[in-house]
Amino acid sequence: MTSKGISRIMQGVLRYQSTRRADVARDVRALRENPGHIHPEALYITCMDSRLQPSMTTQTHVGDMYVIRNSGNLVPHSDHCGEDLWKHPSCETAALDLCCVRSNVGNVIVTGHSDCKAMNALYDVVSTVAAGEREGPLHTYLRSYAVPTIMKMQQLLRSPNMEGPLEFSVTPRHRSFRAFIDPEHELSEMDKLSQVNVLQQMENISSLSFLQTHLGDELVNLHAWWFNLTTGEYHMFSPRDERFIKLTEESAAAMLGIVGKE
Ligand SMILES: [Zn+2]
Repeated sequence: MTSKGISRIMQGVLRYQSTRRADVARDVRALRENPGHIHPEALYITCMDSRLQPSMTTQTHVGDMYVIRNSGNLVPHSDHCGEDLWKHPSCETAALDLCCVRSNVGNVIVTGHSDCKAMNALYDVVSTVAAGEREGPLHTYLRSYAVPTIMKMQQLLRSPNMEGPLEFSVTPRHRSFRAFIDPEHELSEMDKLSQVNVLQQMENISSLSFLQTHLGDELVNLHAWWFNLTTGEYHMFSPRDERFIKLTEESAAAMLGIVGKE
């Protein structure tokens, strides 16, 4: 980073310390003094992209959400981890254990986004049959973690009008779903891949052995969201509609109504 770049960030820290720091510290102390009130509502898994700001776009505050960020909002499938999770540890499985098993967090939200650089790289992987000898760590990581996404994308490319439906198998079985991807044909292939990838994370998470009881007893609910960087709008996957729909007052009320009746 240039000295100008780091200077701008340091100036931001100083500005925070002189304006918001006291309020944030007070909120943290209040949570510590009332430990019963410390109950994050969700684990939010999203991409590390610099244009995403989860706290701002969800208007969440101190103590509300755990957040994991990586290249492409990926969680490994159990086929990658195997049953011996300790032999193939990952920060994502450790975080799911910490949040869902040990801290009783009841919602896992995976949020992908448009114009995702990791998905662009994954698209290159989809287009290339064999691993290149000189692939860098990003491509190697994607080939390792994103194989199920690649397979689903190849199914989508072969489907009528390239819109699916794709089948996703999750725990519990009655929560398995199928999905039409961009039936309005408004998105680029890269953005379609990003939506497929978000949905695949539902299957990947539900494949993890240590979450089976929590998912089976529906103590943990999985949510697939997608953020359009250009418009600043969230889209959420609706199992009933079998597609992503824009998050609005009406669609949120309808979705919460469905959840509330279950
Ligand atoms: Zn991204």
